[in-house]
Amino acid sequence: MTNPHLQLDALVCDLDGVLYRGEAPVPGAASAISELRERGVKIVFATNNATKTLEQYVRRLGTFGVDAEPEDLVTSAVVAAEEIQGRGWSDRSVFLIGGNGIRDALGSIGMSFVDGIQARSAEVVVVSGTPELTYDAIRTAAFAVRAGADFIATNDDSTFPAPDGLWPGAGAILAAVETASGRRAEVMGKPHCPMMEAIRRRLDGRERIAVVGDQPATDLAGARAMGWTTVLVLSGVTDEAAARAEHPAPDVTVPSLAQLRDLIADSG
Ligand SMILES: [Mg+2]
Repeated sequence: MTNPHLQLDALVCDLDGVLYRGEAPVPGAASAISELRERGVKIVFATNNATKTLEQYVRRLGTFGVDAEPEDLVTSAVVAAEEIQGRGWSDRSVFLIGGNGIRDALGSIGMSFVDGIQARSAEVVVVSGTPELTYDAIRTAAFAVRAGADFIATNDDSTFPAPDGLWPGAGAILAAVETASGRRAEVMGKPHCPMMEAIRRRLDGRERIAVVGDQPATDLAGARAMGWTTVLVLSGVTDEAAARAEHPAPDVTVPSLAQLRDLIADSG
């Protein structure tokens, strides 16, 4: 374990595998967040999971003893909506493959959802994770993308952890639409630029920044590209052997957020 004494102004914190694992809290994680805040470290929570709304996440974090306001949270659904709004596409029609979180985010910027045959000429196609995928949805999305729709994905995680193992993630669904349409989507989530820039906007100019996560390919790769400190926790999908094999090595590896607290000096 590397253990430099970290000086931090802000910590970008992944959710699943860092604060909780499924329905089980990571021991000591909630109190570590409280203590870091008391020492002046700003916390931004960032997840690629686009299935839940910000309000659902605020409640979910609350059940694990973590206080959060909607503005402390970034999901790939929120990033997709901010990006679409920033491009002036809010008044366009959208065909969506995805769940509540992304539906809520696109609805909040005023996009109009289209379905069925009409959706084959949607102006924007958004693909996200959902357990309710149908062949019809893949076909409709492929038609629209081939017809020239702008093509956005919330995230491209191939899998996500479930109690019985790894389940197909948004990336698996996205691969089906990309294969069928012959085009690649612009991906919003970690480690891609739109999410990293959305996080930066929420850091209010703070300079000494670390990202803590359990997935090197998403959490840490995005951080590295921004020049931020990378912290790998072993409380999620990466075990100690996999962590040792990681290249480039994370700046810091700790068993969990509870131990990270001890490495962070008062920000002063
Ligand atoms: Mg995670």
